[in-house]
Amino acid sequence: MSFSSLLGQDKTAQRLRAMIESGRVPPALIFHGPPGVGKFLAALEFAKALNCSHTEHRETRPAPPPPDPDDLFAAAAPPPPPGPELPPLKVHADKSDSCGVCLSCRQATSGAHPDIRVIDTETQAAFLKEEETSNLKIEIMREMTRWTQQKSMLSPWKVFIVRDAEAMLGNAQNAILKTLEEPPPGTTVIMTISRKTALLSTILSRSCIIDFAPLPKAALKAILEAQGTDPAQAAALAALGVGSLEKAGEAAAFLKRISALRPGDPARAFKFASGLPRDSHKARDEVKTLLDLVLAKTRLAWRGAEGPAKARYTALLRRTLDLRRMADRNVSYMLLLETALLESERAGVKLEDLVRPD
Ligand SMILES: [Zn+2]
Repeated sequence: MSFSSLLGQDKTAQRLRAMIESGRVPPALIFHGPPGVGKFLAALEFAKALNCSHTEHRETRPAPPPPDPDDLFAAAAPPPPPGPELPPLKVHADKSDSCGVCLSCRQATSGAHPDIRVIDTETQAAFLKEEETSNLKIEIMREMTRWTQQKSMLSPWKVFIVRDAEAMLGNAQNAILKTLEEPPPGTTVIMTISRKTALLSTILSRSCIIDFAPLPKAALKAILEAQGTDPAQAAALAALGVGSLEKAGEAAAFLKRISALRPGDPARAFKFASGLPRDSHKARDEVKTLLDLVLAKTRLAWRGAEGPAKARYTALLRRTLDLRRMADRNVSYMLLLETALLESERAGVKLEDLVRPD
C-alpha cells in the first residue's frame, strides 16, 4: 500500500506528497473532513512515506541451532544447501511515497512501527487497562507528550496520529497543546477530525489544516468493490453513501434491517428503531444519517408534487428539520427515530424509499 491506496483524494494526496518531498513537515497537522473519506488511511500513508528509507531490506536467514552436547546420537546437521540467488527487490525511488519493502515500511504496514503511534480510544483502553470509553483522557495525552520527548527508535520521524481528535476533552486538549507549542524536532502530530470547531482555537492556530472532501461516487464504488461488495450493491451503496465510506456502511446495515421486516407490518417503524446501536454516539450518528435520508427523499418528492401533496411534503420537511436539530441534543434517539419514521410514512415516504438509490 502507498498513497495509491488513497482513492478519491488526489489533490490532498498531492499536497501531502509535496510536503514529504520538500522535507518541510509541520509539527502539527489537522486532517479535516467528513467521516469515512480516508483521513486516517491518509495519516498512516503519510507516516509511512515520511519514514520510508527507500532501501532494500531482507530478512536474514536464522543460523542453524548449535548441536545439543547432551545428545550423543545427534548427527551433525549438514550445512544448508546454498539457496538460489534472489533477484534484487524493486525499490522505487519516488521520495514522496513509500516503497513498501524497506524495514520501516514493513513495520508500518504491520502496525508495529516503533516511531508511528496511533492514539485513539482503543489504544487508550489498552494503555489504561480499562473499558473503552468515547473520550480521550488527559492521562493518554500526557503519555503522548512523554513519548514525543523520547528519541526515535528506527526512523527519522516520530509520528503521532490522534484519531477522531474531537474525542479529546478540554483538559486533554490542553495537555496536547504543550507538545504543539514546543514540538521536539523530528516529531509531527496528525489529528484526524470531522468537526474542527471541537478543537481549541489555540490548537487550530498552531496546526496546518488539510481538508478532505467527500469521496466521488466512482471512488466510493471502487473502494466498496475492493472490499468484496458485488458491483450492483456497491453502486447502490455508493449512491446512498453521499461521499462517505462510513455512511455507505450504515446504508448497507439499514438495507439489511429493512429486508428483515415484513412489508405492510404496522409496527415496522418501531421494529426498525429498536435495532439502533446501544452506544449513544453511534445511535446518534445513525439517526442523523436516517434523518438526512428522509430529508433527501422528501425534497425529491416535494419537487415533483403539486397541491395537497406538496403541502404534505413541506410539512414533513419542516418537521424532519426540527427533529434533525433535536438529534444534536441529549434526547432518546429511539423515540426520535420512531417519530420521524411514522411521520414520513404517513406523508408517503416509506422506509424502503429511504434506501432506494434515486
Ligand atoms: Zn519504504
